[in-house]
Amino acid sequence: MPNKAYKFRLYPTQEQEQLLAKTFGCVRFVYNKMLEERIHIDESFKDDKEALKKQKLPTPAKYKKNFPWLKEVDSLALANAQLNLQKAFTNFFSGRAGFPKFKNRKAKQSYTTNLVNGNIKLSDGYIQLPKLKWVKIKLHRQIPAHHTIKACTITKTKTGKHFISILTEYEHHPVPKEVKKVVGLDFSMNTLYVDNEGKRANYPRFYRQALEKLAQAQRVLSRRRKGSNRWHKQRLKVAKLHEKITNQRRDFLHQASHQLANRYDAVVIEDLNMKGMSQALHFGQSVHDNGWSMFTTFLQYKLEEQGKKLIKIDKWFPSSKTCSRCGQVKVSLSLSERLFCCECGFVADRDINAAINIKKEGLKQLGIA
Ligand SMILES: [Zn+2]
Repeated sequence: MPNKAYKFRLYPTQEQEQLLAKTFGCVRFVYNKMLEERIHIDESFKDDKEALKKQKLPTPAKYKKNFPWLKEVDSLALANAQLNLQKAFTNFFSGRAGFPKFKNRKAKQSYTTNLVNGNIKLSDGYIQLPKLKWVKIKLHRQIPAHHTIKACTITKTKTGKHFISILTEYEHHPVPKEVKKVVGLDFSMNTLYVDNEGKRANYPRFYRQALEKLAQAQRVLSRRRKGSNRWHKQRLKVAKLHEKITNQRRDFLHQASHQLANRYDAVVIEDLNMKGMSQALHFGQSVHDNGWSMFTTFLQYKLEEQGKKLIKIDKWFPSSKTCSRCGQVKVSLSLSERLFCCECGFVADRDINAAINIKKEGLKQLGIA
């Protein structure tokens, strides 16, 4: 069954806010305790890697005797802390991540709880959560009636706002749609993509202005004395701008993917590995910030909901170097060459040429063309 998460703002009372803060703290405490214990176990199994992998984490329940205040918070939140640490160890043993780290006070303030025996309910602008009872929620969109709640993650941002991400599950059997309209997209650094007709998805002007403002605010912050009142004030300003930009970007990516999913039956993209790409090309942060992977995630589920397809073509496919008219492949093409000129006389914008090739390759995979 597919999953879908919905994020809303929470407005806890002062009392609820205190309990939330306590829960964040307890989750961090239990996580660190288990990690500490686990490190002790590790030391005794140092020479036996296989035995080490099989070692189980201690359970949060055992700490409740010595630390009775743990009973005051949602026990599911503590159980999820254990699951998270387990995941961190699995990632570590498979080589995907480094050794799990202790969580300090600066770590993300967040915890996850699950729906068990109807302990979570939505009603009339309020959500019922374990231990917290009814918390005011701003439901700016409806969760469809056929979705069932699985889990909730509550987060407090650096600017002191509370959010809840409600993970739902739903039955869905879309009828596969006959593929008639297909579009190819070429990833673009500055905009988001260029399609095979030359249309570009442009980030809105207010978003680019906000980015400039953030850069400026960060410069001011770097000049302030660390820990001073003015530094704290500026840091809050930077955090607020960050939040605003993240939201604006997400909204834009939702919009852009929504339009494509409605307009086309299949969308063809290159299967880019963004992390590898930013490292290889030294683009640094900007590739991540561009939001391409978030965009493709949105695009995929929005298409699939309608029985449509997202086609990913191999990242080694020479989309930029191939002439989209005659098919000849160039030996080299530097990043600075913005125009694609072929011996056959074909001249086009480099990105558009690539997008046409991506579309063609997608049609091939679909068995059309
Ligand atoms: Zn050509």
